[in-house]
Amino acid sequence: MSKQIQLRGRIFLEFNLHAVSGLHIGGSEVGVEIGGVDKTVIRDPLTNRPYIPGSSLKGKVRSLLEKYEGLPQNQSIGQKVSIHTCDTSEKYATCDVCQVFGVPGERDFGTPTRLVVRDVQMTAESIARLEENGRTDLPYTEVKTEVSIDRVTSAANPRQMERVPAGTVFGPAELVYSIYEGDGCDSQRDVERFARLVEGLVLLEDDYLGGLGSRGSGKVRLAQIQVKLRSRNELLQPAQLLGQFDALEQLVAALPQLQEQIRDQLAQA
Ligand SMILES: [Zn+2]
Repeated sequence: MSKQIQLRGRIFLEFNLHAVSGLHIGGSEVGVEIGGVDKTVIRDPLTNRPYIPGSSLKGKVRSLLEKYEGLPQNQSIGQKVSIHTCDTSEKYATCDVCQVFGVPGERDFGTPTRLVVRDVQMTAESIARLEENGRTDLPYTEVKTEVSIDRVTSAANPRQMERVPAGTVFGPAELVYSIYEGDGCDSQRDVERFARLVEGLVLLEDDYLGGLGSRGSGKVRLAQIQVKLRSRNELLQPAQLLGQFDALEQLVAALPQLQEQIRDQLAQA
């Protein structure tokens, strides 16, 4: 059996991510002092600005799709957290989630992970707004205090959590989706499967990003969406713009047509 896999092209899905409600993407809880904030956000160590790690965004969309598809949560990744990964090549061959988002490296049947998600920084506009006008408690963030009552002792237990304020924009987020052919990969299927990623983003808008979602944090909205394509014979040229959309609904409506365009472009490459 041949082991040749060829990259046919890459789809670049770019968008701005608006925090509609406060956003809490957890940082390190190490070094919390008494009286300090016990739920801090993750920050870029060089700029001290909060950002959205690509792994957080990718992991959240994956987890939402797993639940949507009803996939078995069969792999433990730490305390009380399990994810789905296919354990046989037969299951993997038909599992869109594992093909797109990847399986652990030790699985010998895996084809290349289709999706790469880059870290997302705040836009220059949001940085300027928070630096100039923001009445923030900490640089770029607000501190929200919640009081929970101990059910046994009735003692009040105030907790402080740090959030990026509502209205902050991160972007552009860049999701890179690769299309392969050969050795278990079928480029036509990869183009079809791109729809799974878009579905995952719809689920994300309906759900939340980061922590404390059940208490109102983390509602996000996608805007200024661009879909670009670079086919294998255009490596030295900028990716070609296929479509621009103000909102995710518009991308969803245009998706069949976009997939058709992608198939045409790849067929010529
Ligand atoms: Zn799977």
